[in-house]
Amino acid sequence: MTDDALNPAPELQFLEDYLNTPAPTGLEMDAQRLWAAYIRPFTDEQHCDAYGSTWALLRAEKEDAPTLMLDAHADEIGFSIRYIDDNGFVRVERVGGSDVAIARGRRIRFLGADGDVFGITGNTAIHIRDDGDKAPKLWDLYVDLGCDSREEVEALGLRVGDVGVYCDGPLMLNEGRRLVCRALDDRLCGYILAETARRLHEQKIRPAWNIVFANTVQEEIGCVGAGMLAFRLQPDAAICLDVTHATDSPGLDKGRYGDVRLGKGGCLAFGPVCHPNLNARLELLADKHGIPLQRETTGRATGTNTDQVYRSRGGVPATCFSLPLRYMHSPVETADMADVQACIDLLTAFITALSAEDDFRHKL
Ligand SMILES: [Zn+2]
Repeated sequence: MTDDALNPAPELQFLEDYLNTPAPTGLEMDAQRLWAAYIRPFTDEQHCDAYGSTWALLRAEKEDAPTLMLDAHADEIGFSIRYIDDNGFVRVERVGGSDVAIARGRRIRFLGADGDVFGITGNTAIHIRDDGDKAPKLWDLYVDLGCDSREEVEALGLRVGDVGVYCDGPLMLNEGRRLVCRALDDRLCGYILAETARRLHEQKIRPAWNIVFANTVQEEIGCVGAGMLAFRLQPDAAICLDVTHATDSPGLDKGRYGDVRLGKGGCLAFGPVCHPNLNARLELLADKHGIPLQRETTGRATGTNTDQVYRSRGGVPATCFSLPLRYMHSPVETADMADVQACIDLLTAFITALSAEDDFRHKL
């Protein structure tokens, strides 16, 4: 990471490597192996399922303890190759919610059969473009791989269905205060989970519950991996970590989108999906330990893995705990490192405070 490039702390070196590893939805395994290797010394078991959702278990001090699932998602948005034309230009399909409005004039890295293949998304000059400042249609976007024919593209090891992500790697702003990168959604929350495991390990805390640190796949196309994993693990409670929109950059109406800021801590969602007993415990602990915590509301679905986890089987008390993020689904997603620490602090406090008798379900 630019500011800390010389002799970075091991955790920041992991974060840099993790961010530099592409993990478009459906192709998460390289990133998952890196994440699993980092969390391994801090946990008792590591596993992955058929589609790549990866989890690490920190066993409770006693047997037959309840299980807490902490979830983040490993996948990121991207583009897949839909069509290669006779002149070697490539048309794309979106993988997840890629923003076509900002897709022109970018560097892109395809995961080809023989390794990385670099290209750029073409950007016809504004002087000779018909549509002026308007966003292109998805099918007007094209990738230039420096080739003049379909055969040349295929010779580079690319075919229909191969997937690419932007090349943008991490950049620190303001002396390490804020981190910029593509895919902070949700790689930074996977980092928060791994760092929480490290904190517990270093403090020699053996929790009263089994703690599952889950890095699930395929969130960007409908929160799929988290649903599979919640079904498998049947947790007794779950906290799902994702990013939420910070509304403190110019042009955002707080009356419409709420007031969420960088540097004011993690953000807890309130609404029907988010279990009030879990939220009450998290707020109590934030207050007790002086950990900054913000609030937001979602009247129905949260748009995160929480939506799939809470309705698994007979229902799982779950909540949505988010990291504020500017410029979501762009190559310059921006988060505050103090918020990352505040999330680690609150999760550590929550796990440490759990007792074997805790039960977050409603009762008559
Ligand atoms: Zn996300």
